Amino acid sequence: MTPSKDAVVIVSIEDGRPPRSLRSLLKGLGLRDPGPRCRWHGPNLLSIRVDGTADAGIAAEFRDLDGVRDVAVVPLERGLVGRQPGQADLSVELPGGERIGEGPLSVIAGPCSVESLSQICEIAASVKEAGASALRGGAFKPRTSPYAFGGLGEAGLEHMARARELTKLPIVTEVLNAGDLDLVARYADVLQIGSRNMQNSDLLLEAGRHRLGKPVLLKRSFGATIEEFLQAAEYVALGRWAAGHKDCGLILCERGIRTFETSTRFSLDVGAVAVLRERTALPIIVDPSHAAGARRYVPPLACAAAAAGARGVMVVVHGDPDHAWSDSRQSLDLPCFRRMVAQLRPAPAARA
Ligand code: PEP
Ligand code: MN
Repeated sequence: MTPSKDAVVIVSIEDGRPPRSLRSLLKGLGLRDPGPRCRWHGPNLLSIRVDGTADAGIAAEFRDLDGVRDVAVVPLERGLVGRQPGQADLSVELPGGERIGEGPLSVIAGPCSVESLSQICEIAASVKEAGASALRGGAFKPRTSPYAFGGLGEAGLEHMARARELTKLPIVTEVLNAGDLDLVARYADVLQIGSRNMQNSDLLLEAGRHRLGKPVLLKRSFGATIEEFLQAAEYVALGRWAAGHKDCGLILCERGIRTFETSTRFSLDVGAVAVLRERTALPIIVDPSHAAGARRYVPPLACAAAAAGARGVMVVVHGDPDHAWSDSRQSLDLPCFRRMVAQLRPAPAARA
């Protein structure tokens, strides 16, 4: 991450234990609390930036304090999400056993928005049959215009849950703000944090430390550098670490960035896949639909993503794309989706 030899000490504190001894240790180390190096992330989580490569001794000093639950020391440059030397790729397990990041390319498919129970159930059955790994669908939609369809809300989540019941496909759905986390996490198998919220650090941290521990699929902001994307991921990882969710639980999704090019809705940054795979062991997937903005470009971009090392794709699919309530132009119809999956993952039937 940021070029520096500094380290970060992350301290998780038990509930209801006023960490007085912690405050005196910080004072003894000459650190202002809060201050430029000491930051509280709520009452139970503290990060401290220390000079140089912190040795095991400093971790032990914090660990020995009353009321301290856990301590981690990470190089600032790498953080929790950076790939450690020699670290193998990580993967995220979906209910049903498929792992994103391991095995064949994962395919997350479904409509941009959930429109009705029958719509989502029909799409779910079709994408399942075509070999999809998970069902996507928005119940809470971030929209550029305040007058565009904003999703069905909780009813949309209920429809998705029914589609899951019928097809056994895990569901991926977006959460727009920290206040909705309890509701969305009750239904979702994977919490999507969208492009427009990539820098909502409160949402990122709270999604990571939500008690249900649902994995997070974080999309890159179309205006963010790879470095900023990794820093956003670090908030989620910090939250998960603090809550004791020790498995990876985080998927990164490249979905196109804004450039001077207008022929596609965004420019798919295929190079980011290669860079991210070097910088982090987290599973990297690509959303070619939101990048392309036009359905005919989606299959070639999905192939490019797979060739660049993406471990999965997330695509928008609709039974009747021309009448989709959102993102109609970039929605694939079912025959096109089937052809694309056959191309990306030969013999999908073998996976049923
Ligand atoms: C989506 O996947 O439905 C979505 C809104 O995508 P993005 O956040 O990448 O724009
Ligand atoms: Mn969309």
